[in-house]
Amino acid sequence: MNIIKTKDWGYHIPAGKLLIAGPCSAETEEQLIKTALQLSELPVFMLRAGIWKPRTRPNAFEGVGEKGLPWLNLASKTTGLPVCVEVASPEHVELALKYEVDALWIGARSTANPFTVQAIADALKGCDIPVFVKNPVNPDLQLWLGAIERIYNAGINRIAAIHRGFSVYGQHRYRNFPQWEIPIELRRILPNIEILCDPSHIGGKRDMIFEISQHALNMGFEGLMVESHISPDDAWSDAAQQVTPLQLGQIIERLQKPELSCNDPIFKNKLENLRKQIDNLDFKILDLLSQRMELVREIGEYKKENNITILQIERWAEIFASRMEKAEKMGTAPAFIESLINAIHQESIRQQTEIINAEKTYKVKK
Ligand code: PEP
Ligand code: MN
Repeated sequence: MNIIKTKDWGYHIPAGKLLIAGPCSAETEEQLIKTALQLSELPVFMLRAGIWKPRTRPNAFEGVGEKGLPWLNLASKTTGLPVCVEVASPEHVELALKYEVDALWIGARSTANPFTVQAIADALKGCDIPVFVKNPVNPDLQLWLGAIERIYNAGINRIAAIHRGFSVYGQHRYRNFPQWEIPIELRRILPNIEILCDPSHIGGKRDMIFEISQHALNMGFEGLMVESHISPDDAWSDAAQQVTPLQLGQIIERLQKPELSCNDPIFKNKLENLRKQIDNLDFKILDLLSQRMELVREIGEYKKENNITILQIERWAEIFASRMEKAEKMGTAPAFIESLINAIHQESIRQQTEIINAEKTYKVKK
């Protein structure tokens, strides 16, 4: 499946990256205009501000609503920046279009609900407006893909995805776990869709924005959506994760913006050479694993003959400890070796179980 045809957005920060920035919420006309003016000094390509805020619990600030739309227009006119807003219902779409907002985004809680996404998609039929689709709150790639497809099927062809992390129960270092493998899998399935990262909602804290943004750029994401407020500590929503435009400027300065590819023939040659070596090693690893499994099966036959259990706990404890000790000396992350050894052990048990079960069937037949 490869349905997305993104068009060139036209606004780029250095190294072709898109930067969307603005407050979590538009609070007052003054707050929005002041923030927008300072952001317009940066290589920002679009301004964001929520006016309908999907709050998890009631009695929190739920956005200023329709009265914020003229402020967005004014911010756009004053700075020359296009503006985008979150929509969560057909009424929001209608109002945002009425006030000529330049782009829309669908929030994480809406993406998680196909009825909501379909209602938004229906309201968008016949419009030519870019739409950003955030990942759903839960780590479900199919829901994210489904939301993108619903918007695309409504005739919208400027669609980009926003990775904002996935919620998990309890307090953790991340407000929403990045689970980078999910946007990477989205990229494999839809190679042409642009993916922006929202480090503000992933980290939940302003001092995590740099490291998360850098990782996203290292993964080849096309840009960032960062929350920025003229006075973050006074923000009416998401105060801890917002930065001033000045701080955002410093973050952008520090970010390395690697290119997706390089045409230098010397570089290409060396990379190709190293990749060939990697290919060889990978196939050697697979051959070795296959040899290991042959021995595992032989041991399985032997256990069967002697009627002993597949799991020999002392042996497993010894394997685990010695491999972990070796891994420590190699400087490899212990968690990686732990999952590798566990995966090999599980496959070994599966293969020996196959042998034991085959024997049982044989005996019954006899
Ligand atoms: C937001 O962008 O302010 C927002 C509510 O985001 P999310 O849908 O990612 O929680
Ligand atoms: Mn927010």
